Amino acid sequence: MAEYKSKVLIIGSGPAGYTAGIYAARAGLNPVLVSGPQVGGQLTMTTDIENFPGFPEPVSGPQLMENMRLQAQNVGVRIIDDKITEVDFKNRPFVCSSENGNEFRAETVIISTGSSARWLGLESEKKYIGFGVSACATCDGFFYRGKTVAVVGGGNTAAEEAIYLTNFAAKVYLIHRRDSLRADAVMQKRLKENPKIEIIWDSVIDEVLGIEQPLGVTGLKVRNVKTDAVSELVLDGLFIAIGHHPNTDVFKDYIKLDSNGYIITAPDGTATNVEGVFAAGDVQDAKFRQAITSAGSGAMAAMEAEKYLVSQS
Ligand SMILES: Cc1cc2nc3c(=O)[nH]c(=O)nc-3n(C[C@H](O)[C@H](O)[C@H](O)COP(=O)(O)OP(=O)(O)OC[C@H]3O[C@@H](n4cnc5c(N)ncnc54)[C@H](O)[C@@H]3O)c2cc1C
Repeated sequence: MAEYKSKVLIIGSGPAGYTAGIYAARAGLNPVLVSGPQVGGQLTMTTDIENFPGFPEPVSGPQLMENMRLQAQNVGVRIIDDKITEVDFKNRPFVCSSENGNEFRAETVIISTGSSARWLGLESEKKYIGFGVSACATCDGFFYRGKTVAVVGGGNTAAEEAIYLTNFAAKVYLIHRRDSLRADAVMQKRLKENPKIEIIWDSVIDEVLGIEQPLGVTGLKVRNVKTDAVSELVLDGLFIAIGHHPNTDVFKDYIKLDSNGYIITAPDGTATNVEGVFAAGDVQDAKFRQAITSAGSGAMAAMEAEKYLVSQS
């Protein structure tokens, strides 16, 4: 149990958090960063990353995040492996308490707690995450050129992901547990008009099928919820598009959230409704959700925190 005092406290160790740390440290703010339950963030769940600049060859998600952690430590970020469980943003300095009983007092806070993809919850799905199961078509669609994939979901995101994947895949199944989609009418029309897309209605996935060497997806066991009939689909990849859960529960008494739980930030920056508290990365971005956009907003948050501190001195 310890007390940490800093000018800037960064909550989260994904691309947004580490980048905020690097910028804040290089501005001489001696930041403290609390890494949270998933050290390195969402990218630690994936294999090859080809869209983060600076790596001519694919870099693995865990390696990229380890590099960011080392870079942050090398420029002076104090990283504490712990999880924030309670915050007081009413009094100054702000106080955040943690799972391990630590107390963090800070003049500014950067929230970069991300937004977790919702998964189906199958053991077989977990086994193949990063090896044929993905939650991000923009990130992984490129790997499925000429292949067959499935998207699960019925909302606009699922529809968008299915349409996007037709840029690469030869065939895209859209699997939905009901007999109609929640996606808006324009999206539904585009889906139905696309010859590469086949919608499988009233169906859920019972199991993701695959091979061990090399680890990869080969198909799905799909069950029709009306007839209970089980069939097998042969394919190469599965994209889960059933929503995201922004990690904002701990902040909700102080910070304004939108109807989906994302932090609302100023349109041109990272400021929240509480002066001195900033938010960066997926936790405030339901639209782009990329490592590079998260890193970019992490840099913005640190620069805004620095300007705020100057304005207060
Ligand atoms: C399977 C998969 C593959 C992907 N592939 C790519 C890709 O190829 N390219 C790409 O650009 N993007 C990819 N993405 C998206 C990318 O991972 C995210 O956009 C990015 O990680 C968001 O960064 P972030 O820092 O905002 O949040 P995250 O990476 O989600 O990090 C959030 C951090 O907050 C911490 N945290 C949460 N709650 C607390 C708390 N209470 N206290 C302290 N800390 C807390 C967590 O431990 C974590 O460290 C992929 C995502 C997934 C799921």
